[in-house]
Amino acid sequence: MLDHRESVSRHAFETIGVIHSPFKEKFGIPRQSGLMSAAQAQLELLPPYDRDEAVRGLDGFSHLWITFVFHGVRQGDWSPTVRPPRLGGNQRLGVFATRATHRPNPIGLSVVELTGIKREQGRLLLQLRGADLLDGTPVLDIKPYVPYVDHVPTARAGFADGAPQPRLQVAFAPEAEAVCAPRPDLREFIVQMLQYDPRPAYRGDEEPGRIYGVRVFDCNVRWRVDGDAAQVIAIDPA
Ligand code: SAH
Repeated sequence: MLDHRESVSRHAFETIGVIHSPFKEKFGIPRQSGLMSAAQAQLELLPPYDRDEAVRGLDGFSHLWITFVFHGVRQGDWSPTVRPPRLGGNQRLGVFATRATHRPNPIGLSVVELTGIKREQGRLLLQLRGADLLDGTPVLDIKPYVPYVDHVPTARAGFADGAPQPRLQVAFAPEAEAVCAPRPDLREFIVQMLQYDPRPAYRGDEEPGRIYGVRVFDCNVRWRVDGDAAQVIAIDPA
């Protein structure tokens, strides 16, 4: 009999690819994949995995599972319980009952839409949509999403039953609107990001009128929340 404590204790994985994404920091990233159709990203396969044969047949699939490393969280400080933002950030559940980023092995799992495969300047790129991934995320694996096995219509989803609903109406101050005039994709991205209210779930000590900021694409976006309205007050070069 194998003694699992001794024989299966350590595993080494290599990065097979890296994510290029508009999200330059964790703040602002939606809480799951698929919530922001405007969140386009690229998965660049790295040598020696950047071979056409390695993705042969992948274009037949509309969606992929990506396993990746939560490289943006400090490691080693996992706790058996976490506070999911969905529950208001003040109720504790077991880490394995959640999709929290702080976990014993910092591995993430996202379903994303595959919108294209191309080679550009020698690099093999998968075009993705709906990604909840930080720029620079190391990718461990790619698998096709297979509905007959991966989609379970009768599944129960505990505290995470039903998709989060957009909570805020997003408006733009004239200067911010002007920045977006030549960049309608940027405007749509900001609307989709802010409507889910990226602020921390627990805001007991938030001062009224507080200005929040986040870096996306090549911009710093700043906004303020008043009731159920988010007002984008500035979009500056990062
Ligand atoms: N769909 C994934 C991630 C869910 S948690 C899963 O279920 O495993 C979603 C959060 O992951 C986002 O709010 C974002 O802030 C965070 N995130 C995304 N990429 C990350 C990275 N590379 N490092 C750390 N956190 C990341």
